[in-house]
Amino acid sequence: QLRRLLFRRHFLSSCRSQRASDVAQHKYDVIVVGGGHAGTEAAAAATRIGAETLLITQKIETIGALSCNPSLGGVGKGQLVKEVDALDGLMGRAGDYAGVHFSILNRSKGPAVWGPRAQLDRGRYREFIQSQLLNMPRLTVIEGSVEDLIISAADPEKPGKHRVTGVRMTDGAGEILASSVVITTGTFLSGSLFMGRTTSPGGRMGEPPSCAGLSHSLREVLGLKLGRLRTGTPPRLIKDTVDFSLAELHLPDPQPTPFSFINKHTHCKPEDQLPCHLTYTTPGVEEVVRESLHMNSHIQQDTKGPRYCPSIESRVLRFPGRQHQVWLEPEGLTSDLVYPQGLSMTMPPELQLRLLREIPALHRVEIRTPGYGVQYDFVCPMQLFPWLQVKCVQGLFLAGQINGTTGYEEAAAQGLWAGVNAGRTALSLPPLSLSRTESYIGVMIDDLVSRGVTEPYRMFTSRAEFRTSLRPDNADLRLTLRGTGLWAGVNAGRTALSLPPLSLSRTESYIGVMIDDLVSRGVTEPYRMFTSRAEFRTSLRPDNADLRLTLRGFEELGCVSSQRYSEALRVSRGLSEALVALQSVTLSSPRWREKLRDVGISEVKSTLISGEEMLQHKEVSFEMLASIFPEIFAPYLEFSQRIKIEAVYRPHCENQKREIERIQEEESLTLPPDIDYLSLPVSLSDEVREVLDRARPDTLGAATRLPGVTPAAIIHLLNYVSKTE
Ligand code: FAD
Repeated sequence: QLRRLLFRRHFLSSCRSQRASDVAQHKYDVIVVGGGHAGTEAAAAATRIGAETLLITQKIETIGALSCNPSLGGVGKGQLVKEVDALDGLMGRAGDYAGVHFSILNRSKGPAVWGPRAQLDRGRYREFIQSQLLNMPRLTVIEGSVEDLIISAADPEKPGKHRVTGVRMTDGAGEILASSVVITTGTFLSGSLFMGRTTSPGGRMGEPPSCAGLSHSLREVLGLKLGRLRTGTPPRLIKDTVDFSLAELHLPDPQPTPFSFINKHTHCKPEDQLPCHLTYTTPGVEEVVRESLHMNSHIQQDTKGPRYCPSIESRVLRFPGRQHQVWLEPEGLTSDLVYPQGLSMTMPPELQLRLLREIPALHRVEIRTPGYGVQYDFVCPMQLFPWLQVKCVQGLFLAGQINGTTGYEEAAAQGLWAGVNAGRTALSLPPLSLSRTESYIGVMIDDLVSRGVTEPYRMFTSRAEFRTSLRPDNADLRLTLRGTGLWAGVNAGRTALSLPPLSLSRTESYIGVMIDDLVSRGVTEPYRMFTSRAEFRTSLRPDNADLRLTLRGFEELGCVSSQRYSEALRVSRGLSEALVALQSVTLSSPRWREKLRDVGISEVKSTLISGEEMLQHKEVSFEMLASIFPEIFAPYLEFSQRIKIEAVYRPHCENQKREIERIQEEESLTLPPDIDYLSLPVSLSDEVREVLDRARPDTLGAATRLPGVTPAAIIHLLNYVSKTE
């Protein structure tokens, strides 16, 4: 541990010594402004795809800081962590390293809506993120504050009125140039802190806000529409002064489930996990809130706060007379503090103490730091493309709380996607977007850019129409393999980056054989491949192509690391093989019936039922089938839970896939011009009806491209029109 600390201190000081003036000579592919959850993922993703990247943040020691609750994941948010991990982001692995209490929320429901969640050790989380970022090749991190953007005339060939070409630092520290800039200033953009009647400028307690120049530039120079939102945090309590015997004990899952697909275990051993405690507010809490309202400027403002993570003041005012839950959560393995989730408050500190002591378990509590509120500017996200670039500014990307979201997971997921696209833009590759049907990241970005926000946006599983396909367990299969496809055009990208191009040799691949034949011998007739062309054909077998090429491809070129890629391939193959095996076994054999009777299943209606169908029965597990037919299923036991989930959801997912394909096939279907969308007898939200009524699209394809019209709405519309035709 000492070695780690010394290394970190050395690294931090060497990073600080890189000043803006040192890097000002250099033109970067990507500059990321802000080292919060969005900024760290953006910088890491841009770097992974090969862009030379500079991360500028106000304080290097706060990189990876958890501004509010020391926890990660939950229902909807856990899905985002898994997707960030599937694309090789940092957050899931950091959670596995820093977690001290792991649990899967929503277990009583189907696995599609399970919510992987962990309480974290704050220090460890920061340590992991910093150690990863500060050791990345092609990534420079400097401490400093960006005052303004450098804006130039737009490239007439591309959409947008302006073009960003770099950033200007505060205190005359110079200008730094880049092809793309990602702004991730979180709660710092024109941030103000609130406690009692006191208001002061700040983005987080003890940290100054982002310079006014940046807000001014976004609003006045670029003409972007900005809004204002607020959030708050509870006081931190001294652990020794909490009476845990008066609260309910909540233990973690006995076997912690890692967030990351590449981790088999969490860093914290099962037996070392810490408990949480649950307690409730009393009528005394409500009294203090009401008495203190006139001394609480934050709560008197009209600015919208997070509806799903409200302050105790908002909870009491909205639901008077109710008991509200308060979770007492550990802040870390060795921390002497407790985080009271549910008690975010902004009244004066002496009243905060009075309020807390109205709760039995906190009757003698002492506060280390009082709660406070923050208000900040955000950019209305309908001004962004789905790849998170500002529509009117070429090369400018926004991610995180600046786009009106709340939460670490929402910020990280946007950061990763903005980083990928900022990197691609810098490398002259076309931007990419993720659809609602393939990921929660796609759902969130589509919600933001097509509907905008009126209050801080957070993720829920109910936002995703295709949530049975977008499960936490299969994020790797949905995204990791796609992530690898992002890196096509590898040599074009490498040339843009001034990296030497790469070639494949005759000894390692048929691709190498073919290119060598073409460029060294030329052609006299159309060239086609034969095995006889390859001198080393016994080594160049189809069965070992992954071993020959995948590792090389991903180590040298990829954003998704070789380790992750091959692991995703291994899992994908294992699952496919297991499903084929399940489908090929049928219950017609008397041996099946006999064995099933042995494990207590005697009622099987059909005489012919496949292993896969059998698994769709709630009470049948894959382990059970493997105990009956070890010779067939034992090799796949490590995937038991995933196989069960796949088997249960497959019919539904296949159905959805067919519906998506149907939408694609029926793109040109004409929509009747006199259709009355407002009273159509199908399940459409009022919002979708209004959009359709206003736009009156000619075809189904045109309807799919309307902002706010979801794939589920399109399916209802398609079914209706097909039926009435
Ligand atoms: P941040 O984590 O805010 O990071 C922004 C980074 O940008 C900082 O490192 C900052 O130093 C840097 N920066 C800013 N301006 C500049 C500049 N000009 N130049 C260089 N660097 C700059 N979320 C919830 O889900 N629930 C809650 O209850 C909740 N409560 C919160 C309470 C408080 C008091 C705060 C501050 C935040 C709270 N959050 C809450 C929000 C959560 O912290 C954010 O959603 C998340 O951290 C956003 O990540 P981000 O990367 O967008 O921004």
